[in-house]
Amino acid sequence: MSRFLHEKYAPLEAYTPGEQPRDRAYIKLNTNESPYPPAPEVLDALGQQDLEDLRLYSDPEGKALKEKLAWYYGCQGENVFLSNGSDDILNFAFMAFGAQGAVFPSPSYSFYPVFAQLHGVPYRTVPLREDFTLDVEGLCHTGCLTVLANPNAPTGLAVGLEAIEGIVASNPDQVVLVDEAYIDFGGESAAELIHRYQNLLVVMTYSKSRSMAGARLGFALGDRELIADLEKLKFSTNPYNVNRLTLTLGAAAVDAAPYFVENAKRIMATRARTAAALQMLGFTFPDSKANFLFIRREGLPGALLYRKLKDRGVLIRHFSDPALADYNRVTIGTEEEMGVFLQEVRAILEEEGLYETG
Ligand SMILES: *Cc1c(COP(=O)(O)O)cnc(C)c1O
Repeated sequence: MSRFLHEKYAPLEAYTPGEQPRDRAYIKLNTNESPYPPAPEVLDALGQQDLEDLRLYSDPEGKALKEKLAWYYGCQGENVFLSNGSDDILNFAFMAFGAQGAVFPSPSYSFYPVFAQLHGVPYRTVPLREDFTLDVEGLCHTGCLTVLANPNAPTGLAVGLEAIEGIVASNPDQVVLVDEAYIDFGGESAAELIHRYQNLLVVMTYSKSRSMAGARLGFALGDRELIADLEKLKFSTNPYNVNRLTLTLGAAAVDAAPYFVENAKRIMATRARTAAALQMLGFTFPDSKANFLFIRREGLPGALLYRKLKDRGVLIRHFSDPALADYNRVTIGTEEEMGVFLQEVRAILEEEGLYETG
């Protein structure tokens, strides 16, 4: 830290992204990316002209993409906000709507407390129950900005629309932000509720189900006034926050929507087969509606499994939070990748005397 940094940032603890090591080829099951490439229409969307047009600024309104997303989700362009990854939206939301503080479940996405600290938003957490289910009551009537991921990360557990609606309806004078980063893997989206609740902001991303993490594209759906608030902050921060290439690719991906829906189904099928195999090996995990499993094995410390798998070329995510020491989060890859993962897990269990091949 230099002596020039504003003192208010001195205690800030930045978010730690999952590792992206380059030292060798890994089977990457640690950051919830899709194992499949983007839609063929996306791969073909950029021509020479698009590259030449890089000399021009992108459309700060992102109008064409907003219209497409609005059509897909059954709302108007004025109900859509575009951003550089959905983390960008979370940042603006804490900045915009945190005047009375914030509440979110714990454990959940570890970026929420970072944004709260960054913007000086006092926060409290609502612990998950013993079995990792959401304390829905605890998130009602909070009297401040309420943020939850549905499905939750890193557990993968989802709540239904009734629970979401209950939370939103209980807090009419505060924004409820539902982070639907993993909604396409079996959850129930709250997108349709934006027409009935002015305080609901639904946040989605191209990074997971749409196979476009590197394009950095997120969007929020909500009442036009809420969206206008986010636009105000965006235009006061970085009006061109989504680049030209990404706007074009994002629109092509909406046209090709059946492709990502199909991919999500494949990933759900692989998730079910992986879960069944892990169960046979003595692992336990919550019922995931996301593209990952949050796994634990009696007698096998989480950090040990993580390290041994890394040595064998398979990356999974281990968290520094001591409450999660027994666990690892495993992204669902292709059938082949999960086959290798399971084979290596079996070998490690054998090494540890926890499994005998018969
Ligand atoms: C991956 C993720 C995001 C957002 O990622 P972006 O790449 O910034 O869109 C948001 N929330 C949760 C819970 C996530 O797991």
